[in-house]
Amino acid sequence: MTATTSDIERAAGLLRDGGLVALPTETVYGLGANAEDPTAVAQIFQVKGRPPSHPLIVHIAGAEHLHAWVEEVPATARLLAERFWPGPLTLVLRRGSRVPLEATGGLETVAVRVPDHPVALALLSAFGGGVTAPSANRFGSVSPTTADHVRAELGDAVDFVLDGGPCQVGVESTIVDVTGGRPTILRPGGVTREDLEAVLGGPVAVPSTSHVRVPGQHPSHYAPRARVALVESEKVVAEAELAQEQGHQVGVFLPHSLAGASVKAHAVVALPGSTAAYAHGLYGYLRELDERGCDLIVASLPAEKGLGLAIANRLRRAAGPRASA
Ligand code: AMP
Ligand code: MG
Repeated sequence: MTATTSDIERAAGLLRDGGLVALPTETVYGLGANAEDPTAVAQIFQVKGRPPSHPLIVHIAGAEHLHAWVEEVPATARLLAERFWPGPLTLVLRRGSRVPLEATGGLETVAVRVPDHPVALALLSAFGGGVTAPSANRFGSVSPTTADHVRAELGDAVDFVLDGGPCQVGVESTIVDVTGGRPTILRPGGVTREDLEAVLGGPVAVPSTSHVRVPGQHPSHYAPRARVALVESEKVVAEAELAQEQGHQVGVFLPHSLAGASVKAHAVVALPGSTAAYAHGLYGYLRELDERGCDLIVASLPAEKGLGLAIANRLRRAAGPRASA
């Protein structure tokens, strides 16, 4: 059920009172708090189990408010904001004085974006300030793309869940650092590298490791309970069947190129042909295979272009070594 005007008023009031509100965005559901309230921001870290050194994204109602949250708005940032906001693009800029260090993990830079979702925008307008909103899940696990995912994962730890239906994009925003000379992608996401390059008129770097702390850069992040094994797409069926024979409860991400192939496994997700549909469904598929009792998910990486870059990034992290065995 989509949030009503009175739900939005209630949520805005809770934010003013230092509460936590889960909100829909076009990427994933966020766990929101008043960005200028260090106590409320600290509560986000506590509920998520997120290390306090990992910075949050400040969500604002429109590009016209950007200057109020940062020290300066470089021309590149203005251009990207004009072109991609509201939308799944986060800009890292020099921190303005109203942003508490609690929200930036102690950094002198701040990440800002304008989400493209009517409920999020209505909440931001009604509230009137900035909302820090990391994904509404426990640190390291799969991001929520429906209100039910949020309720299942965070339950009473959040004061109110605004329901805005399933998230359209389904993977997090693209984070671009515009503090230096050349814009750099810190995390691939809903806005593609190709789209950024078309607007900027030149190549945009995607470093494999980042100097700043980015949770998405941890070896294991976006991870379901089941272990994730990445294999070449031609080997998905054989590897899945072998593991199933060896006693695993295997979930399979069946590539679209193999559509219709039969697989002797515990559960099969037939992947869609378009990367937009794949990104939209990705976290739901991982949750579904967990719910169906799989202990191993066999998948392959899509081509790393367009949205495939973000999907491959999330699958690699999901398959990364876990902190505890
Ligand atoms: P999420 O936890 O999904 O909301 O992701 C927030 C992302 O923004 C994380 O990967 C953060 O590390 C990143 N981020 C936020 N602020 C900064 C910053 N000042 N510099 C670099 N990355 C940032
Ligand atoms: Mg997250």
